[in-house]
Amino acid sequence: MTVANIAHDVADLSLADAGARRTAWAGREMPVLATIRERVSKERPFAGLRIGACLHVTTETANLAITLRDAGASVALCASNPLSTQDDAAASLVVNEGIAVFARKGEDRDTYYRHIEAVLETRPEITMDDGADVVTLLHTTRRELLGGVRGGTDPIIAVNEARTKHMFDNQYGTGQSAVDGLLRATNVLIAGKTAVVCGYGWVGRGVASRLRGMGAIVVIVEVDPLRGLEAAMDGYQVMPIAEAARRGDIFLTTTGNLNVIGAKHFPLLKDGAILANAGHFNDEIEIPALERMARGKRTIRPFVEEYALDGKNVFLLAEGRLLNHAAAEANPAAVMDMSFSNQVLAIEHLLRHAAELEPRVYPVPPELDAQIAKLKLEAMGMKIDTMTDEQRAYASSWKAGT
Ligand code: SAH
Repeated sequence: MTVANIAHDVADLSLADAGARRTAWAGREMPVLATIRERVSKERPFAGLRIGACLHVTTETANLAITLRDAGASVALCASNPLSTQDDAAASLVVNEGIAVFARKGEDRDTYYRHIEAVLETRPEITMDDGADVVTLLHTTRRELLGGVRGGTDPIIAVNEARTKHMFDNQYGTGQSAVDGLLRATNVLIAGKTAVVCGYGWVGRGVASRLRGMGAIVVIVEVDPLRGLEAAMDGYQVMPIAEAARRGDIFLTTTGNLNVIGAKHFPLLKDGAILANAGHFNDEIEIPALERMARGKRTIRPFVEEYALDGKNVFLLAEGRLLNHAAAEANPAAVMDMSFSNQVLAIEHLLRHAAELEPRVYPVPPELDAQIAKLKLEAMGMKIDTMTDEQRAYASSWKAGT
């Protein structure tokens, strides 16, 4: 195998050795995936299967891609965000693992879509699609390829809905890495600042609790009364963005929705307000409006852009793209271990049950979730109990009273 035979477009192949070391480092924190890899390397459930993956190209994803390859698949990988690629991990996959990768950190929009097209050119039978850009193309401009697609994980088997995914990856992973991105980009002190977290889903609650742990006064913005109530009883102040906009020193959007901090809120911001996003797409902050309203803009330091508005300056981090990927190293391997184990087991499940499955979104089967949680606990050296027969009978009966 030589590099020339591997289709690729990566930034710098000479980063491969550094990438290999960091990929192995991440792998140390991914024991569940390693256990699965050992099994699938023998069983080869994906022999001959073409997998097209559009994921953040990180050292954790590298461990996933290697597992898929060892399970017999031929894998083509592109980035699911222009700023999230780790160029060394990408180079290592090409040079050391012989895996086709199309991803360069900081690629422009055209290159981003060219890279997705390059993956589609391999006529994937299975897609893994973080952000659904591949699925969108398959249902719009590349419909002729749809017939060859047997299924996919996110969003078709909804890996994000697995409990071993969102409870850990979203909450503890992004909770930590978004704060990591904020710190690396700005080096601001969190203690004593008012931090506004928009969205109290699994990511939002993770970010909020970590910011509070570092001494911030945390305000939550929500649209769902139950989540708002939960935030209130978790001890946060809950208020509309129009009010929070006047108070916040730091804003982090985690909603997955559009223009959460928008044109009408920018005039309300304090001088020095820092705006950042930890959701997948860069449209949670209404950047086109910010660009329109600003009298000028300049780069202060990497991932920090200053916008001059009437009477004040505000700062946008990482172009409003996911801060944890752009300015830090994305979610730590220990949580991606479970997310990516879900991906592998979900594909196995899909192939095994292809005949019965209809074209719709399916959850990850709960028994796979339980299997992953059990393996993770074991790997952490912890054990749980099993119910006694007496307890099982008690728990499943309505007859026992006081
Ligand atoms: N799948 C969602 C988008 C999620 S964006 C959707 O379709 O809308 C953020 C995703 O980045 C998370 O699902 C998380 O699993 C992934 N991620 C976080 N850290 C990562 C890492 N180190 N490597 C690869 N992916 C990562």
